[in-house]
Amino acid sequence: MPTLSNPSEIAREALRLLASRRMSPSPDNYRALYHEIAGTPADQPAAFPQRELRALLNALPKESGPQQRLLRRFEQAFKGNSWSELKRGVAELFAQLGKESDLPWSQLFGDFLRQWEGKQSGFTVARKREALERVLGGGGNSEVLFGRLQGLVKSWSMNAPEASEMALVDPPAASMSGLPAAGQQAAAAPALPPGERTAELANELREIFAYTLEVLIPSQVHDEPELIADAKALAHKIRTATSRAAMEGLQASVKRFAFRLELLAEDRAELRAGLLKLLQLLIENVGELVIEDRWLAGQIEIVRDIVAGPLSIRSIGDAENRLKEVIFKQGQLKHSLNEARESLKQMLAGFVDHLAEFADSTSDYHDKIEICADRISNAADISQLEDVLAEVIRETQIIQLNAQRSRDELRSAKQSVEDAEKRIAELQAELDKASTLVRHDQLTGALNRRGLEEAFAKETARAQRRQSTLCVALLDIDNFKKLNDSLGHDAGDAALVHLTTVIRETMRPQDTIARFGGEEFIVLLPDTPLEDAQTAMVRLQRELTRRIFLHDNKRQLITFSAGLTDFRPTDTQASVSKRADEAMFAAKQAGKNRVLIG
Ligand code: GH3
Ligand code: MG
Ligand code: MG
Repeated sequence: MPTLSNPSEIAREALRLLASRRMSPSPDNYRALYHEIAGTPADQPAAFPQRELRALLNALPKESGPQQRLLRRFEQAFKGNSWSELKRGVAELFAQLGKESDLPWSQLFGDFLRQWEGKQSGFTVARKREALERVLGGGGNSEVLFGRLQGLVKSWSMNAPEASEMALVDPPAASMSGLPAAGQQAAAAPALPPGERTAELANELREIFAYTLEVLIPSQVHDEPELIADAKALAHKIRTATSRAAMEGLQASVKRFAFRLELLAEDRAELRAGLLKLLQLLIENVGELVIEDRWLAGQIEIVRDIVAGPLSIRSIGDAENRLKEVIFKQGQLKHSLNEARESLKQMLAGFVDHLAEFADSTSDYHDKIEICADRISNAADISQLEDVLAEVIRETQIIQLNAQRSRDELRSAKQSVEDAEKRIAELQAELDKASTLVRHDQLTGALNRRGLEEAFAKETARAQRRQSTLCVALLDIDNFKKLNDSLGHDAGDAALVHLTTVIRETMRPQDTIARFGGEEFIVLLPDTPLEDAQTAMVRLQRELTRRIFLHDNKRQLITFSAGLTDFRPTDTQASVSKRADEAMFAAKQAGKNRVLIG
């Protein structure tokens, strides 16, 4: 075959050969024939596909730090038309994907669920949901999502009451909800030169700072639109300030902003303290005024407990629910009571009218009889008397009938009045009962602290009168936090109800059960020597083991530690409770699930 040098001639000859050799017209066959005709090696590397690869590059995501690093690497490869560089970049990408799938998702989900079900100060369910939606809607790959979710869980856990005990995924992530976790990204990224790493850290810090200003601060100062606008403007400046002069200007703005925030925080603290003081004053005064009114006194007591603090969203919520329930019941009962009183009033008014009518008709009768008597004495003959007598008989019959009707009506009116009085008494009793609701814990039905105070006063007075022994036991569930954490708060609540039921059914009817705090209960055992009280508590422990708590059909053993003591002549409720508490603490120290005497 003559060697052709003109590319278009080579191309034409290659096409002709494809047809004559009956080869399929694929690009590979065409390329092979082209090289054969041109006399060039067939395995010559193809030209570097700059254009196609650049289009591909533009379509790749560039959100996270690692993604941006990889893109920079690809850029380098393109600049140098280097397949080998590109190959290394792709290999790295795959290695990274492998690492991503190693992320400890299950552990993170465990922590997430615990925190979702748990309580954290300042995080309502609605706020948590909002933060979660922000994290989920933030875009990015699974690693970014992992980092953000981890940051969210961490921020919740830091606000949980038992933050110090939380086990979280290592390494610790950024503490702000919705932010990429810097530590996590650093772990997944390849080692960078120190300078680049510092720059990257500075960028991450800048982003965290901007996020704080843009999202966190507005959520805390939502009633200060001016401050919110300033925070957002500052966030924008932080993201865009790159020159030294801009940075210096920024520093001054940030200082000014921080100062304003400080002032606002001080104002708010003062406002809060002032409001609390005002409320306290009001409650004390109203409490004095309504000392006779048991219905209101109960409600005031709830608010007084809250104001006395420590304030917590949970205790305020509980108090609100209890108040609502009592107020609703009282409202219903008061309405029925007013109705009953009104109908009683009407009945009495009818009764009086009736008496007046009766008196009228009898005086009418007397007048008529008097006239008849005159007519009798003046009668000239017997025939005139007949008419008068007939009239006397008629009038007498009428008055007799009237009297009988009146007697019947009065009897039924009396019955109605008695019925109404009975209904009123019942309603009063119900109202009193509704008002005592405030003495009981809503979850378990045991007495609450206020109820305990009253019971305590009653029992100590009785013990002193009778010279008998009153024992006080303080129970605290063992490892309750663990149960809450592993089974959820609702299961914890159910366990509290279960324990109360077992105590109530195991102790004697005259023993008092009160919920002293979260998972602490006080039992008052009147007329009981210490040894007998201890036996009773041990019996309660046994009973609790026997009547095991079931959750989701799984058996959960609940145990408690208790401190037991007797009420002494110089004791107050506080001193005896303190002694019981110390004994309970000693029982915990000694290994839990035991009763110690203090
Ligand atoms: P210990 O054996 O030393 O008593 O440990 P613990 O875990 O029982 O004690 P700790 O005081 O650390 O935890 C008590 C937990 O009780 C913490 C709190 O979340 C929980 N708790 C308090 N009140 C309630 C409630 O009304 N319902 C539920 N479910 N949990 C509650
Ligand atoms: Mg406790
Ligand atoms: Mg406990």
